[in-house]
Amino acid sequence: MTNAPRLASASLDHPADQRDVARWDYEADVIVVGFGAAGACAALEAARAGARVLLFEATSGSGGTSALSGGEIYVGGGGGTLMQRTAGFNDATEDLYRYLLLTGGPDADAARVRLYADLSLQHFEWLMAQGVEFRNSYIAERCIEPVTDDCLIWSGSEEAWPFAQQARPAPRGHCPKFAGMGGGRYLMDVLTQRVQQARVQVQFDARACALVRGGEREVTGLVVRVDGELRSARARRGVILCAGGFVMNRDMVRRHAPLLLRSRFPIGTVDDGSGIRLGQSVGGAAINMAEGFATIPWYPPGSLVKGIFINSQGQRFINEDCYHGRVSQYILRQSGDRVWLLQDQDTYAEPQLRELARIEIATAGETWEEVERDLQLPAGALVGTVEFYNRHAAGGGDPLFHKAAKWLKPLVRPPFVALDCRVDHCFYASFTLGGLDTLPTGEVLDAARQPIGGLFAAGRTACGLPRWGEGYSSGTSIADATFFGRQAGMRAARVSR
Ligand SMILES: Cc1cc2nc3c(=O)[nH]c(=O)nc-3n(C[C@H](O)[C@H](O)[C@H](O)COP(=O)(O)OP(=O)(O)OC[C@H]3O[C@@H](n4cnc5c(N)ncnc54)[C@H](O)[C@@H]3O)c2cc1C
Repeated sequence: MTNAPRLASASLDHPADQRDVARWDYEADVIVVGFGAAGACAALEAARAGARVLLFEATSGSGGTSALSGGEIYVGGGGGTLMQRTAGFNDATEDLYRYLLLTGGPDADAARVRLYADLSLQHFEWLMAQGVEFRNSYIAERCIEPVTDDCLIWSGSEEAWPFAQQARPAPRGHCPKFAGMGGGRYLMDVLTQRVQQARVQVQFDARACALVRGGEREVTGLVVRVDGELRSARARRGVILCAGGFVMNRDMVRRHAPLLLRSRFPIGTVDDGSGIRLGQSVGGAAINMAEGFATIPWYPPGSLVKGIFINSQGQRFINEDCYHGRVSQYILRQSGDRVWLLQDQDTYAEPQLRELARIEIATAGETWEEVERDLQLPAGALVGTVEFYNRHAAGGGDPLFHKAAKWLKPLVRPPFVALDCRVDHCFYASFTLGGLDTLPTGEVLDAARQPIGGLFAAGRTACGLPRWGEGYSSGTSIADATFFGRQAGMRAARVSR
């Protein structure tokens, strides 16, 4: 008897009933959905723990958004990685813990952060043992991603207020040995080879369409579309959802994270929210759905950090030495749609990614009054802001936003310039951070925080380490996807039922 007619009524939002599965087309201990960083690591660990693993990937190859990424991973603590120690940073686990807790925002998950901080160095060793290479090198200058094959960079707001006051700063962004931006493809190629060697059965062009429920609170399988046909797959121990986030599903973004609609450049691949919806279909709770990463790459060079951002009212609103993603979150939240970055002759340099970022000079003038008039701001608004900033910067202070002394320089040398950083004009890229609520070991939780039997999630399908746009730091998403993907794989392989 064919399955198709009975499975057809199931969907991402409505699970199939196991009683409607006439026969299983596939069987495995653990089924993984999605072959990005989280799925690869989940599959690897489940297979190595002795489970028969089946991985379904909607597209024709491995990689997902992970392969588009810089492949940068946020690690440290335990005295530091080789690269950190060589660069002179003795990074304590407690500092990594405190920093990550702060970056998680009001809803940080202390248990998850604790586990990651304690095992971060081990995880880095694990990645290297898979064959991912990292050079022992450090770039002190501010950058988004190295354009060389260098490794260690400052990739968050570690040195900026209020983070630096609560956790001793250290650079923790580790980029793979890959010349140019985009080391994520290299990272995924290495992980893909390991998955193949681990004898994971991979089915490409197979889209997960619905979960199969064995009882009220038990997931026992999956409905997948392969070759235009609906097929059923039995998971003896568990299904792990690693299908990415939802930034490409504009309806979901509209409903859950409308602020991100201001960014016209969602970045990702599939990221259609299917993993999250599958989890929700059996009662999984989705949390922090309004949160996302959004940014304009306005530096390097670092000298631009010595400028100041002003909004439509001519007011400053943040310490500009924060990570570009944090600054951009504040930009998104300003009232009015105009934002400028003000520089003088000593601090101005062309943004390295100017063309990508679409940052242009709005106006230049010999006095700040002239710039203010050109920008059609009320008399005194910009001039007062600059005068206040300059007066305190000259004394090495920033009483309003606490920008660190090394970035403080009065903007007094003409010509003066205003760079146009409007959200609707420039390249503000975005992806989502909300997702299924899970235990650090990957079990998907319902609204009462009770695990749903046989269901796990990791990567951007889950709400993981990075869960607050204002705190996001580069490398935390791949760190989260790889590390917590592994935890879910190990845990699912141990399920007995
Ligand atoms: C340009 C760019 C640069 C970035 N740089 C970094 C960086 O350097 N460091 C960092 O930490 N983060 C970075 N990020 C963010 C990071 O890449 C992602 O958040 C992360 O890779 C997500 O991993 P994942 O495994 O959860 O999802 P993905 O890698 O997207 O994997 C999900 C997989 O699931 C598949 N899938 C989706 N739906 C289904 C379905 N229904 N059935 C079957 N398969 C399905 C997809 O095709 C995909 O292969 C960057 C993002 C971008 C876009």
